[in-house]
Amino acid sequence: MRENIIFTDLAKELQAKAREIADKHVRPGAKKYDELQEYNWEAARAVAGAGLFRTFIPKEYGGHGAGILALAMVTEELAKADSGFGVAFAVNALGSFPIILGGTEEQKQRWLPHIARGEKLVAFCLSEKFAGSDASGLAVTAEEDGDHYIIRGEKKWTTNGGVADIYSVFCVTDPTSKSRRISAIVVEKGTPGFTVKKVENKMGIRCVPVVETHFDNVRVPKANLIGGKPGMGFKHAMMTLDLARPGVAAQAVGAAQGALDLALVYANRRQQFGAPISSFQMVQKMLADMAMKTEAARWLVYACAGAVDQGAAEKVSKQAAMAKCFASDVAMEVATDAVQIFGGYGFMEDYPIAKFFRDAKILQIYEGTNQVQRMVIARHLIREANELEHLAAYIPNEVQNTYRDGVQITHSRKAEPVQR
Ligand SMILES: Cc1cc2nc3c(=O)[nH]c(=O)nc-3n(C[C@H](O)[C@H](O)[C@H](O)COP(=O)(O)OP(=O)(O)OC[C@H]3O[C@@H](n4cnc5c(N)ncnc54)[C@H](O)[C@@H]3O)c2cc1C
Repeated sequence: MRENIIFTDLAKELQAKAREIADKHVRPGAKKYDELQEYNWEAARAVAGAGLFRTFIPKEYGGHGAGILALAMVTEELAKADSGFGVAFAVNALGSFPIILGGTEEQKQRWLPHIARGEKLVAFCLSEKFAGSDASGLAVTAEEDGDHYIIRGEKKWTTNGGVADIYSVFCVTDPTSKSRRISAIVVEKGTPGFTVKKVENKMGIRCVPVVETHFDNVRVPKANLIGGKPGMGFKHAMMTLDLARPGVAAQAVGAAQGALDLALVYANRRQQFGAPISSFQMVQKMLADMAMKTEAARWLVYACAGAVDQGAAEKVSKQAAMAKCFASDVAMEVATDAVQIFGGYGFMEDYPIAKFFRDAKILQIYEGTNQVQRMVIARHLIREANELEHLAAYIPNEVQNTYRDGVQITHSRKAEPVQR
């Protein structure tokens, strides 16, 4: 019944296609590509053939312009079959958003139609060895040289690195500026000096490569500077992450649902004490909790994605952080309980449930760790509490006026803000 509430016909159509591809091309190869640590090209071609890469590309550039909610629904279906492939799909949106949000018309015409057709995969290069949660501390530089930039340095943790053709690379273009230090520049595969140096050996999501990308005096035309104006990179990165977080959260919902589905089928078949283990109350409690959490996460994601589609993209930071943090914590909890329900079999790599467990962990780490998401949420809450001043009459007199904007103001030394 819920399908009829907020979803467009297009979103439902794309979701159905994603489910079909997940069943036919993703789930059957999940174990193999995980073991080999190889990209699932067969599934990627099927996704391209079904037009699913068009989901997040605007109509003017060959996409469906279906919006963030549709993107979340597609990602969820793919991740349900293989969380790693869910990432492999969603990271294309992450890498494309800087161009969609900040690119010039010429840049959009140049790259987006290829992405929409699935001819070119995309990667997002923000993180570095010494700049993770604190993304403002980037060291990769892009120095002006006539009509070109010369890029130097290394990026860490580039998902899709090596298989992608288009890389949105965040570089320091003005080391002296505080607010306009960073710019995003597109580097295309094959540009001399641009190489993949280390392919990471990961705990989970092993079907998608995560690599170090090295830039050894890489000469890139200024026409590749996203937006054509230097100094906009940090803003574009933050806007991109806000827009992409519902996608990570959707991966988490898919991962949780996939683990729950397997646990249910197992619990109905596994007999102990002469009865299916699903008849035991403690197992039922686990299953019920897993289902409740997954459903709650799903609707948090849909509400956030829906808000973006309704034009609230710039105000969605808190909701996106909540969706990402909550859904990924749920994915980890549900995958852990699913392993528990499988008992000893759950601990074996012979069965896919162990992979759900390994795959879930990264969701709490990338695209902003869950500690960072909680900081973002708390910062918004504390700021918004200014609008709750009418409730001040209901707190003890002793505390009145002791705190303002989360800052303690009564002591001689000004206390630190609760969250930076
Ligand atoms: C598999 C994988 C794929 C990735 N893909 C990409 C990608 O495609 N593109 C990209 O740019 N990046 C990517 N990343 C990078 C990812 O986003 C970062 O790993 C993440 O943001 C955390 O940064 P870090 O690893 O440097 O950890 P750190 O920032 O060093 O954090 C270490 C720990 O300290 C905590 N911490 C840090 N600061 C604070 C604080 N102020 N308050 C409280 N706790 C804090 C963190 O929560 C964490 O628990 C990927 C990472 C992995 C592992």
